[in-house]
Amino acid sequence: MTSYPSTKLFIAGVWRDATRGRTIDVINPATEEVIGTVAHAGIDDLDEALEAARSGFDIWRRTPAFERYQIMRRAAGLMRERAEAIGPLLTMEQGKPLDQAIGEAAAAADMIDWFAEEGRRVTSKIIPARAAGITQVAVKKPVGPVAAFTPWNFPINQVVRKLSGALAAGCSIIVKAPEETPAAPAQLIQAFHDAGVPVGVVNLVFGVPAEISEYLIPHPVIRKVSFTGSTPVGKHLAALAGQHMKPVTMELGGHGPVVITKDADLENVTSLLAKTKIRNAGQICVSPTRFLVEDEVADQFAKDFATIVGQTKIGNGMEPGTEMGPLANDRRIPALEELIEDAVQSGAKLATGGRRIGNKGWFFEPTVLTDVPTAARVMNEEPFGPLAIINRFSTIDDAISEANRLPYGLAAYGFTGSNNTADRLSEDLEAGIVAVNHNGFGLPELPFGGTKDSGYGTEGGTEAIEAYLETRLVTRKEA
Ligand code: NAD
Repeated sequence: MTSYPSTKLFIAGVWRDATRGRTIDVINPATEEVIGTVAHAGIDDLDEALEAARSGFDIWRRTPAFERYQIMRRAAGLMRERAEAIGPLLTMEQGKPLDQAIGEAAAAADMIDWFAEEGRRVTSKIIPARAAGITQVAVKKPVGPVAAFTPWNFPINQVVRKLSGALAAGCSIIVKAPEETPAAPAQLIQAFHDAGVPVGVVNLVFGVPAEISEYLIPHPVIRKVSFTGSTPVGKHLAALAGQHMKPVTMELGGHGPVVITKDADLENVTSLLAKTKIRNAGQICVSPTRFLVEDEVADQFAKDFATIVGQTKIGNGMEPGTEMGPLANDRRIPALEELIEDAVQSGAKLATGGRRIGNKGWFFEPTVLTDVPTAARVMNEEPFGPLAIINRFSTIDDAISEANRLPYGLAAYGFTGSNNTADRLSEDLEAGIVAVNHNGFGLPELPFGGTKDSGYGTEGGTEAIEAYLETRLVTRKEA
């Protein structure tokens, strides 16, 4: 039996309590028991973190790229070695099945490795001058100390994308990780510390999210902001960063449309999508949500999809065989109940699920709504839970226009047996990630980010490092 640790702040290379000794309880979503606490930073703690990030940046930006690479590779190795031990902490605080929790910790190692490698390839360029004796260089420099805000759905993955990109570029960072799920990201920070990241380069704080963001974002030490979370909060933080001329990366909400035509390989597609929907209890920004199925096969798809999700083995993520754990926090239960009630009152049919399971632990039935009117709230708001909408379409134009109707544009999916339709979907779906006939994305080397209200910037691929760099011109005449 793993014991769950209480989590402290990590500032200037030291794990410590908040100066005023304040803590926040951490609750196991499967049992509703308080399993530990997390330190609650105040302004004085943030000031120390800022000073650490300032001095850490001075060291790290001067550290040779090859040395940074070596330290990061060591951190990746430690995450790989420790993934089995970190998994249970993640399951206890977040709820996801243990194999997925271990997988998340192990995947962090791949992410760190890739960014470590990519950091060695950051190069400046010489631009030919118009006159003799002049050298003009476009120099890539790390932008400076970063403030990163991450959510509770993938407590390790959301941190590691920002942390690895920032460190590979030569930036220091203050991470504000989720108070609901603090122990797993703390293990990630520990791996970097153990790997030899210099004091002050990486700092970790928790507290009241709004208090911390309102203080860090305007602060002159911070030169870059990265946030993952909901669109309303993202817009607020982007506006605040804008007032202080700080560049931002925003990875926000989505409402994943899925276009399925009658000539798709329906049997395989149904089971792939049913499994994708219940993953992490649907609490994924790229989760497929609005299924748009061609008329002739819509009823069959809805029936089979509802049957598969209805058979999901739901339980405590620590129990072997669990396919879906509880929701990560109690806020999602009334949020989902209200969306479902509103949809049914608007005329939608409930094909399966719709309710909380029991009264201990935040478990919720996988839910399928069909024939949902466009005006229903759930057609317009991100459900962020195990809820699928299955509607029908008769022409591909209608399907694409419904897919693009919302201001969101994160992930969009298409499944079809026709290469012409696949071309149309690839070209016309308005989303930062378009997946046709499979759902393979999320890898370190691939761009990951949204368009429209789903945010801007990418947290994967080469561009993810660019987000932590700035270009300066040095033009020099021979003395
Ligand atoms: P929320 O909007 O209150 O918070 C979302 C995240 O933002 C949390 O991690 C929270 O700590 C943080 N946050 C909130 N206010 C903040 C502020 N002023 N400054 C800095 N950080 C702040 O919602 P919630 O109930 O925690 O989550 C539900 C919604 O959040 C979902 O509907 C979904 O849209 C969104 N969400 C998105 C992702 C994602 O991967 N894009 C992850 C988690 C949650």
